[in-house]
Amino acid sequence: MTAAASARQILTRLHEVMASRLHAQGKLDQVVEIIGESLSSEVCSIYLLREGMLELFATRGLNPEAVHVTRMAVGEGLTGTIADNVETLNLAEAKAHPDFQYRPETGEEKFHSFAGVPIVYRERAVGVLCVQHVDPRRYEDVEIEALQTTAMVLSELIANADLVDEEEALGLDAAHSGPQTITGLTLVKGLATGIAAYHQPRVQITQVMAEDIEAERQRVYRAFDKMREQIDGLANQAEFGVGGEHEEVLETYKMFAYDEGWSRRINEAIDSGLTAEAAIERVQQHTRMRMREIDDPLLADRMHDLEDLANRLLRIVAGQIGTAAQQGLRQDTILIARNLGPAELLEYDRRRLKGVILEEGSLTAHVVIVARAMGVPVLGRANHGKGGLRSVVRDGDEILLDATAASAVVRPAAPVAEAFGRRFARSKEKQAAYAKLRDVEPFTRCGTRIQVMMNAGLRDDISALALTGADGVGLFRTEFQFLVSATLPQRERQLKLYRDVLDAAGDKPVVFRTVDIGGDKAVPYLASEIARNDENPAMGWRALRLALTREGLMKAQARSLLEAAAGRSLHVMFPMVSEVWEFDAAKQVFEEQLAFLRAKKKMVPEQVHYGAMLEVPALAEVLDLLLPRLSFISVGTNDLTQFLFAADRANPALAQRYDWLSVAIMRFMRRLVQATVGSNVEIGVCGEMGGRRLEALALLGIGFRRLSITPAAVGPIKELVRKVDLAEIEAAMTGWLSDPSVNLRDELSQWASDREIETD
Ligand code: PEP
Ligand code: MG
Repeated sequence: MTAAASARQILTRLHEVMASRLHAQGKLDQVVEIIGESLSSEVCSIYLLREGMLELFATRGLNPEAVHVTRMAVGEGLTGTIADNVETLNLAEAKAHPDFQYRPETGEEKFHSFAGVPIVYRERAVGVLCVQHVDPRRYEDVEIEALQTTAMVLSELIANADLVDEEEALGLDAAHSGPQTITGLTLVKGLATGIAAYHQPRVQITQVMAEDIEAERQRVYRAFDKMREQIDGLANQAEFGVGGEHEEVLETYKMFAYDEGWSRRINEAIDSGLTAEAAIERVQQHTRMRMREIDDPLLADRMHDLEDLANRLLRIVAGQIGTAAQQGLRQDTILIARNLGPAELLEYDRRRLKGVILEEGSLTAHVVIVARAMGVPVLGRANHGKGGLRSVVRDGDEILLDATAASAVVRPAAPVAEAFGRRFARSKEKQAAYAKLRDVEPFTRCGTRIQVMMNAGLRDDISALALTGADGVGLFRTEFQFLVSATLPQRERQLKLYRDVLDAAGDKPVVFRTVDIGGDKAVPYLASEIARNDENPAMGWRALRLALTREGLMKAQARSLLEAAAGRSLHVMFPMVSEVWEFDAAKQVFEEQLAFLRAKKKMVPEQVHYGAMLEVPALAEVLDLLLPRLSFISVGTNDLTQFLFAADRANPALAQRYDWLSVAIMRFMRRLVQATVGSNVEIGVCGEMGGRRLEALALLGIGFRRLSITPAAVGPIKELVRKVDLAEIEAAMTGWLSDPSVNLRDELSQWASDREIETD
């Protein structure tokens, strides 16, 4: 008999038992007989969860007196280990395993080999099915598969017969029950609470046995086709908009998606009588077991990819294709994903999306830039060993997210939740206090008006202008529209956005930065050969360099901005200007479009103010040439500091290494301010640094009077400004900067605390 035929025979017998009128205990007794006999095993036992313990519910071969007597904790003995780790064990010699525990009442001393599989219900182990044999031999693959199939059938029985208490089941699987702390990297600061929701929800298998094998086979063929189509589509779209998957992952996806072995094993499982869903799941369980045995970190990564793909296949076959966004969020949610594209994030209901936890992600990932703009805290690089986040968080778990402290607590204990609640309330109170500063102008103690502007990039962000009372938008990142769009935004769409933004901003100025695309903010429809060959994208074919070679792109943007600002003032600035001629060339594109519009008798802006971002250190050396040509300069400290220190801003290993508050950076920036003295050029800072209080204090101390910062920081920075005496901080900074050995952060903190100025 073939393996599939014998597996089908087992399944048919199980099916008969399940369909019989026996009560649940009777069915379990029958199952252990069928499996023991089919696998020629002296022992077959079923342990199920009761009152938090694994209890022997049925056995063939062990002492019958032990039934409902033998109980063990999760994590105790081999059975407990299987439940605890939700993993399969296959041992030639049970006693040799470090977790082996002998239970005299069962009479199991004569048995050598042992194999066991978890019975999984709603992603939790709610029991264990195991077999034992007198001969010391490992069980064959087909035998393990028969056990896994039986465990699925049992899980269906459990679901229908209330054999385990669901509440109780929560208490079984340690990784899924008690509180767990997840750590990662702060990508967007903030606190949030909510219910965990996976971006791609997991499929619940409701039917294990196939009614029509041929139909199941067809379903799986179609699902494979569809999945391959999707993966090819993703690969063609490079890393844009669909899942943020990077190239390497896509390569692996492709390899698995077209792997003949995988589809063959699934087909064999269907031949044995399983539904397509159950077949995919069982093959996955088997692969999981194999990978665990190999225990290689590189393979563990690949396992992660395969899990993703198997989940995708399951979702296709089960017709559950929608993401959590498409299914709709019903309550306050902390979204969990391996990675996301910016467009996918924007699909979520902003009122209910409170936080995001990503297994990947970096500070400048598109999705993070968008989340920051949305004011949603993000914890990134959150991982939890081999199983990823799925091994510790389930859909619906309560989560306290403290992205500021780079951690999250899943299923918090009551005192932890209370303490978090108090902290959250305090932070909300602070926010409310800042909101009160909305209409208060940021004058320093000595009476100087500081310009506190905000950064934006999406149409909705402009509402923050009124909420925070910011003086205007000091940096509007126009590339956001390009990042969230699957195709190049046409001129009409750009025009509409810019016009809406200007209308919403009213009298307040908006500084539009022309597209800063390329590098890590690549969009596939603008990919070029040159960009693809960039070994160091941050220093590569990006921003103005790209725009000047894609003349059509720059022209369309110039025309849209000029038309949008018709009859009012337009502020436009160019990113990554490295040499003066680049500024001239960019300005010329605008001037030509202006001339064109005038010739067409179209209404044009009353004034156009040109500015440049200072992000490339070389530009600082030619300010004498540059200043007469423009009306403002905005220092992009995110890029500037990465170039000054030659330290990739996206590399977390370098994130803590160089301080923005270093004497080198401060001296450099002070020179920039001093160079503008006596010119009519305004200089400000629009990097993240200006939104942090200690850093903002230092910037005021070296002469900056204009900051453009993330909206959430407007209140705190206004409050700071009102407590500062400029002459005092300037004198202190001058003193500190004359001595390169000074630790500026310590000095500034002390200075601020002496004056009761909050800086954290
Ligand atoms: C900067 O580099 O500081 C900046 C504001 O631009 P971006 O972060 O968009 O590169
Ligand atoms: Mg920049």
